[in-house]
Amino acid sequence: DIETVEGLLYFTPDGKLEFRDDYHNHAESKHIQERYLEVLSPDGQVLFRNDRLGDATLGGPVFANEGVGGYSGRTERLADGTRVALVSRRHTMAGRPILIRLAYSMEPIWGQIYQLLLAFLAALPIALAGAGFAGYSLARRALDPLSQMTRRAEQITPDRLHERLPVENPHDELGQMGRVFNDTLDRLENAFDQMRRFTADASHELRTPLTAIRSVGEVGLQRDATREEYREIIGSMLEEANRLTRLVENLLAVSRADAGQVHLQRRPIPVLDLTRESAALLDVLIDEKDQKLQLDGDATATVIGDRLILRQAVVNILHNAIKFSPVHGAISVSTTQDDREVRIRIADSGPGIAEEHRDKVFQRFYRVDSSRSSDTGGTGLGLSIAQWAVQAHGGRITIDNLSGAGCAFQIAIPSGCLG
Ligand code: ADP
Repeated sequence: DIETVEGLLYFTPDGKLEFRDDYHNHAESKHIQERYLEVLSPDGQVLFRNDRLGDATLGGPVFANEGVGGYSGRTERLADGTRVALVSRRHTMAGRPILIRLAYSMEPIWGQIYQLLLAFLAALPIALAGAGFAGYSLARRALDPLSQMTRRAEQITPDRLHERLPVENPHDELGQMGRVFNDTLDRLENAFDQMRRFTADASHELRTPLTAIRSVGEVGLQRDATREEYREIIGSMLEEANRLTRLVENLLAVSRADAGQVHLQRRPIPVLDLTRESAALLDVLIDEKDQKLQLDGDATATVIGDRLILRQAVVNILHNAIKFSPVHGAISVSTTQDDREVRIRIADSGPGIAEEHRDKVFQRFYRVDSSRSSDTGGTGLGLSIAQWAVQAHGGRITIDNLSGAGCAFQIAIPSGCLG
């Protein structure tokens, strides 16, 4: 536009600056009519103002270097408050420097902006209501699985531990939470089942000796017996009472271990000593059955562990070896150590343990042959206690059948075990 204006301005012979109006059929110059145009001399004297501008000034006094070497653009307000976008440019016409200021009104643009703002304002409540509604229904839909889970979780009681939370999508956050919760329920259900089974088995085990004591006592009371017979009756009652005591002691050991109440007192233990000590505790039983116990091994083999707890494991296994080996049978105990672990091997000459029972014998109250075991006065807890004791030391127990008769239990505990 400035360039068009430059082309349309001219000095009259009497030195007045004029604008070539006859040029108005040109599209560009028509445009120019809508513009505000002011031409000044560099010292600020007004040389020309177009009709649109009238008497008003455009842009105030000339400032230094205004319009020199390009277009200086800015926004201004006219005296009537009209906002304009203004461009100035220095030009030389007929050898005279002039400053052309050309502006266009920004009012139509502001009018459109106000209209747009009004439209936005009018639409705002509708948009807010729409967003609120959409947000609410979205949140409801997203949280629906959560409320389903909550309802289901409320129904889970100890009797209904088999119930699980519904998981719609296992890969989203809610699904993952549901999965973790369900896994926890799995573990809880297992623990509850185990506890129920344990309570049922323990009650059953306790009932047997109690029934025996009662029936022996009742039979004794029913008739006059001789002194010898009474001694026998009391003897067998005491035997059952002993069995009951052993069972209760074992149950206590198991429940303490379950409750994590056992704290290992770790000290270096020479294992050969430990096996000698365990055998000494069972000497009477070995003598009773006239069995031959061979005990040898590495005298330097040492583990770091709790002496009493490890001894319990060895005693339980050795006790089984004595119980299940025949009269005059042979039992051997040997200890070895390499740089990884210390091993205690207890081999007997009993019936051995068939492959399919090898893992199960460590379960509580499990007996391969219940009639035979109850003859031997076992509680069915000895091996599970032994296994707990060894595992508490970071070790394991394995069973091998021997080629002749009997089986060999091997306790392996990491050397210098820290559990
Ligand atoms: P129990 O007090 O009945 O011996 P344990 O837990 O010590 O209970 O042993 C579980 C079962 O494993 C025993 O009832 C028996 O059937 C079997 N068992 C354990 N040790 C031996 C062994 N040395 N020889 C044969 N069978 C064994």
